[in-house]
Amino acid sequence: MKKYVFGIDVGGTTIKCGLFSSKGEVLESWEIVTNKADQGNHIISDIAATIQSKCEEKGIQVNEIEGVGVGVPGPVDNNGVVQVAVNLGWGTRDVKSELEALVQVPVAVGNDANVAALGELWLGAAAGSKDAIMFTLGTGVGGGVIVDGKVVAGVHGAGGEIGHLAVVLEDGNQCNCGKKGCLETVASATGIVRETEKYLAANDEASSLRSLEKIEAKDVFDAAKAGDAVGLKMVDQLGRYIGLAAANLAATTDPQKIIIGGGVSKAGAILIDTIVKHYQSFAFSAVRDTEFVLAELGNDAGIVGSAYLAKTV
Ligand code: ZN
Repeated sequence: MKKYVFGIDVGGTTIKCGLFSSKGEVLESWEIVTNKADQGNHIISDIAATIQSKCEEKGIQVNEIEGVGVGVPGPVDNNGVVQVAVNLGWGTRDVKSELEALVQVPVAVGNDANVAALGELWLGAAAGSKDAIMFTLGTGVGGGVIVDGKVVAGVHGAGGEIGHLAVVLEDGNQCNCGKKGCLETVASATGIVRETEKYLAANDEASSLRSLEKIEAKDVFDAAKAGDAVGLKMVDQLGRYIGLAAANLAATTDPQKIIIGGGVSKAGAILIDTIVKHYQSFAFSAVRDTEFVLAELGNDAGIVGSAYLAKTV
């Protein structure tokens, strides 16, 4: 009888691990350090070792495990092959085959932002939906597009790379990916700060933000919430870019819910309300009332979604 599933979320500093019941109850969660030595060659065997020691500790037999899901910070193709994961020191790596050989149970591998979206779909903000789009607004901008319960990974594993949608058509900022004007350059925490600093330098408008030695994304939202004109302008610009991207995506996959997550989403209602305002002005009529929700699982979205991925492949 298959009673257990493991969800593993591999990050550049730590590997988050979760042991779940097949229904999705978290039985235990823990972390191990990501050992990036030797081009990340120890990472897969470290994952196998921590799963095996957890099984020993809990008296779990291999035949009781439904599968192991792994979220990785890089593009992953439909065969579970990671194309590149710079933060781990990896080039191309067949994570599925390598880990399966060690743990002797089925392994499913997905991009970390994509599996976070799956987590929200299974047990979080979009529970009960089969079609959703998630924006993860953090240091960068990630995302996941889910159609009929499955992540759209695409031919190169680049499906759902929402952060690299082109939204600034002229004089866009340089993106880490090499091109200009990506959503990430204006909607990540870094992008929000850069846009605000640029505006303050180019205009004389009074703003409480000018008194700060170092501006952070949260300061921009706080200023907007307090009625500061520049803060409001910057939040409106942000909402416009995300609303535009969301409207174009919604016309492509027609999701039931659009989830906004990541550190920037802590801004809460002001962010959602501003996105929705612009979204509705850009959206095709049939998808104009699509619901926007804040992510609910926080840092656990990765392990939850990885576990779900293992259940659904
Ligand atoms: Zn880019």
